Amino acid sequence: MQDHLDDRHPAKDDAFSDPLLRGNWYEIDLGAIRHNCRQLRASLAPGVRIFACLKRNGYGCGAGEVATSLAAEGIDGFAVASLLDALAIRRRGIHAPILLYPGAPLTAAPVIEAFNLTVSISDVDELDRWRRTMKRVQAFLKVDLGFFRAGATPSQSLNLLAAAAAAPDVEVAGLYAHMSELPMATPADAIAQFMRMQTIVREAELQGLRPPIVMMSSTEGVLNHPEMDFDAVDPGALFIGLSEPGIVARQMTLRPALKAIGCRLVSVKRIDASLGPVPDLPGFDEGMLLGVVGFGWGDGFPRQVPAQAVALVRGKRVPVLPPAHLEHLRLDLTKAPEARFGDDVLLLGRQGDDEITIEEASALWGTDPIGLYASLRDHIPRFYT
Ligand SMILES: *Cc1c(COP(=O)(O)O)cnc(C)c1O
Repeated sequence: MQDHLDDRHPAKDDAFSDPLLRGNWYEIDLGAIRHNCRQLRASLAPGVRIFACLKRNGYGCGAGEVATSLAAEGIDGFAVASLLDALAIRRRGIHAPILLYPGAPLTAAPVIEAFNLTVSISDVDELDRWRRTMKRVQAFLKVDLGFFRAGATPSQSLNLLAAAAAAPDVEVAGLYAHMSELPMATPADAIAQFMRMQTIVREAELQGLRPPIVMMSSTEGVLNHPEMDFDAVDPGALFIGLSEPGIVARQMTLRPALKAIGCRLVSVKRIDASLGPVPDLPGFDEGMLLGVVGFGWGDGFPRQVPAQAVALVRGKRVPVLPPAHLEHLRLDLTKAPEARFGDDVLLLGRQGDDEITIEEASALWGTDPIGLYASLRDHIPRFYT
């Protein structure tokens, strides 16, 4: 157990990921991500392209490393919101198309051109501004089918398509949308949005304006609405093993990418009366064995320690005690009296016969699995298995 890190290779992204420098880590299963990709590929018709959405640094798993694995699976392209994630992919020597979701500033134009990235454009003014900053604009036009976020409204879409088609310096590689994830969205809304997209595509075809790629399916669409595949899909959560609630039209066995959130015991002591009275906080007892780990709310743990929060030490479940600190948490080691300084501690993952799953950890941390992935921090080293 003490040699936990030694049989893994650290990400070589930067010097700070050296496991000797830090006492905490994430374990990411790239095999699971490749498996999930193959599951997706097998369920799509031949010719439907996959743009893997690797936003938020590949959902915390490392956009560059995840992209390299997906490139080995023959992925067709990528989609990200942050330019930094796009650069992480390019730095791996990957030349596949990368779509930037809305978010890139105009000042990034030289980088966008140098790295051959595709911008999203939602209206004619945006189109004009990008044209003024770049010699040649490579774009996906975005439509809003009822999400009330970025994208041209359905009634503005044809006008935008026509304006882009009339510009000799603009290459319209695609037309895409993201289905509404508003809290009140219903299955009927999904159908209504699909019909809006079909209407736009049909009209674009009639006017000779249909771009080569039409795309609107993220994880939810891919799993629940095979009819919405069009020419390409851009799921993200699916690659890290998350499915969506609802009627699943396509059965896939997805495996979680995140296998462990680990840290180490940096202090173990038996508390005694010389410390003064025991704090009047849940879980503290006179004479208890107290552990401290090198992981805190600055590392993504909830700022308010949840009442049922647990960690695994020597294969045993032990409570996490409040309050949480920036880089430290306390454990009640009563149930693991053999614990020693330097022991591995898992906040998520399998140790011995016990396991804290992503579902359990995210529920304990007051979020959901995607929220847990989004709380993964870039300063914590990732180990890939
Ligand atoms: C996040 C996102 C996706 C992928 O969504 P998942 O639910 O993770 O599959 C696709 N398109 C856009 C525009 C997004 O913002």
